[in-house]
Amino acid sequence: MLFVDCWIDGRRVDLRVDGGLIVELGRLDPRPGEEVLARGTVCPHLAEPHVHLDAALLGRRAPNVSGTLEEGIANWAALRDGLGRQDVLDRARETLGWYASFGCTRVRTHVDTGCLENVAALIELRDTWTGGQLQVVAFPQEGMLTSPRHEEHWREAVLMGCDAVGAIPHFEPTRGSGDRSLRLACELASERGLYVDVHCDERETDEFRHLLTLCRLSMELGLEGRVVAGHCTAMHHWSDELAAQGIELVLESGVQVVTNPFDNIVLLGRGSYPRTRGHTRVDELWAAGASVGIGHDSVMDPWYRLGNANLVEAAYMLVHYAHLTSEEQLVRAFTTLSSDNHRCFGSVPRLEVGQPADLLFYEAADPAEVLRLRPAPRVLRASAPS
Ligand SMILES: [Zn+2]
Repeated sequence: MLFVDCWIDGRRVDLRVDGGLIVELGRLDPRPGEEVLARGTVCPHLAEPHVHLDAALLGRRAPNVSGTLEEGIANWAALRDGLGRQDVLDRARETLGWYASFGCTRVRTHVDTGCLENVAALIELRDTWTGGQLQVVAFPQEGMLTSPRHEEHWREAVLMGCDAVGAIPHFEPTRGSGDRSLRLACELASERGLYVDVHCDERETDEFRHLLTLCRLSMELGLEGRVVAGHCTAMHHWSDELAAQGIELVLESGVQVVTNPFDNIVLLGRGSYPRTRGHTRVDELWAAGASVGIGHDSVMDPWYRLGNANLVEAAYMLVHYAHLTSEEQLVRAFTTLSSDNHRCFGSVPRLEVGQPADLLFYEAADPAEVLRLRPAPRVLRASAPS
């Protein structure tokens, strides 16, 4: 198969695939009988760094009347314990199928540790899913220090075999206990050789600064490259001076920030007019050289009723409300999905000769056109899932 005059990594080149491998890159002539796809955008498979598969597709069962984060949490809490293994598996599998149809074959899901049956279901799915790589984060949705039972369940979920330790410091009873929850999470991850993935400062006031603590703990405990801070929306409201300090710590510690455009734009900034936005400082993080992932977060769940597991839509949303519309920023937003989004899985794929031909072809001339048109890609797999 030959890709002709395609946008690949900022260049217009041809690429040949044979026997499941990328065999040539450059200026190439078609061979007799070879399938040719021309003038598109080609990139590696996409990765999803932040979704909640235990809650996915439940938005219709529990409509969020007020549209708020709080009602989302309450509606989810009412459903969570009665779902059962099969219900969780069915919805998670269906959602993973949607991701796959849009070329995303690595997915990191959070799972609410308040229901260990749901945790077991997603670990079972991780161990049996043949469509790609799935990681599970032990996420204490109601906080871990809000009751001894919550901490116990969170610990047990981690010990059941989750890949990453989660936390939600802004949801703990005090800012001090929020920081303590981060120490517990980072120490547990360090002891067990796991990743850390925190719902961090998903608030819209400047008093939430748990990101600073998380970066310092990451360095103290030698967790560089293994820590993700999701949301970080309070940073939007920090002073420029504090934000500069925070971004420097992010760089120094190697913590990756993951922004979640859909949930952040609808769940935050809902107060009285004039309304603010609720998102992290993606442009400043990028300018400083930090790695930022883009998550879908909710797929038709109690927090966000829309979504279809197409990460290009999430990038499209982000470039609008975060003012990322320069040519360079549009390219970065799109390429993040197949580069920085893979970081939490421990490796970033590249389209090079000799590499497996796990790639996507979009009928769109370049990344800006992919964002403008948002077409479903043609998905090539080096090895078809069994
Ligand atoms: Zn989340």
